[in-house]
Amino acid sequence: MLRIALQSKGRLNEKSIALLREAGISIEESSRKLLSRSSNFPMEVLYLRDDDIPQTVSCGIADIGIVGYNEVMERAYPVDVLKHLEFGKCRLSLAIPKYLEYDGPEFFNGKRVATSYPVILKSYFDRKGISCEIREIAGSVEISPSIGLADGIFDIVSSGGTLVQNGLAEVETVMESDAVLIGRPGLDEEKMQTVRTLLSRFTSVLRSRGKKYMLVNVPNDKIDEALEIIPSMKSPTLLPLADKGWSAIHAVVDETEVWEKADRLKQIGAEDILVLSMEKLII
Ligand code: ATP
Ligand code: MG
Repeated sequence: MLRIALQSKGRLNEKSIALLREAGISIEESSRKLLSRSSNFPMEVLYLRDDDIPQTVSCGIADIGIVGYNEVMERAYPVDVLKHLEFGKCRLSLAIPKYLEYDGPEFFNGKRVATSYPVILKSYFDRKGISCEIREIAGSVEISPSIGLADGIFDIVSSGGTLVQNGLAEVETVMESDAVLIGRPGLDEEKMQTVRTLLSRFTSVLRSRGKKYMLVNVPNDKIDEALEIIPSMKSPTLLPLADKGWSAIHAVVDETEVWEKADRLKQIGAEDILVLSMEKLII
C-alpha cells in the first residue's frame, strides 16, 4: 500500500485531490480526517500542512507527496522530484519599496531582507556573492519594509497584486515553482510499480488538459492543406466519407487554437467542423 501526503487545506489541497480523481483514484474527501484510503487504488492519503510534507516523505512516514516545489527546495530534505504537476504556479521574488532605485542584485549588499524562505534566499545571495542580512519571519512578509523591519522582501508572487498594494516593486525572480510529486529515494519494487502507474496516469491527465478533439470534413483535393493546419499528436485520422470526393479528419488540438484553426479550415473549403471535449488521453 502506497501512502501519499497531501496538503490538508490551502491552495494545493483541492487541485491535488482533483488530479487524483481525474487519474481514476477515488478517495474520501475529508479535511478533518488525517488518513483516508482509496477504494479503488492501492493507496492511502495522509493530510498534512504543506511545510511538513517534504520531511514526512524523506523519513518514510509517507512514500510520496504533492507539495510546492518552493517547499521542497526550502526544506532541502533528500527527496526525488518525480513530476512537475503544472498547478499551484508561482514565483519567489525579491521586492523593494517602489520609490527606491534598483541597479541590480548588488543593491542588496549590506541590506536587510525579510522572508519565510531563508534557505533559498541564502543560496541565491551566496551564488551572487552578496552579503545581506536575512530576517526570517513566518507571515505577512510584505509589510516588513513599511514597519522598518527590512529594506526589502523575498516572497511568493503570483499576480503581483499584494506587492502593489504594499507599495513594493518586484526586482528579481529567483525561482519559479509549481506543485510537484515527490518520492522517497529507494522505494521497494512493489511500491515503485504503483508509483509508475500513478505517474503514467498523471502524464495522461496533464496531456489531455486544454486539448479538444476536432472532426472536420474536407474535399479530397484539400486534404494536404488541411493537414498542415491541424498537425496532430502523431498523425491525424483520415476517413473517407460516403460522399465520394470528401474525407473526414479527426485530430487532437489545443483548446487555445481551435477558433484560429476552424477559421483557416473554412477558408480552404472545409465543412461540418465538430469540436468535442476530450475525456481522457491515455498514453
Ligand atoms: P499550510 O497550512 O498547509 O502550511 P500554507 O499557508 O503554508 O499552508 P498555502 O498558502 O496554502 O500554504 O500555499 C501552498 C503553496 O501554494 C505554496 O507553497 C506555493 O507553492 C503555492 N502557491 C501558488 N500561488 C501562491 C500564492 N499566490 N501565494 C502563496 N502560495 C502560492
Ligand atoms: Mg505552510
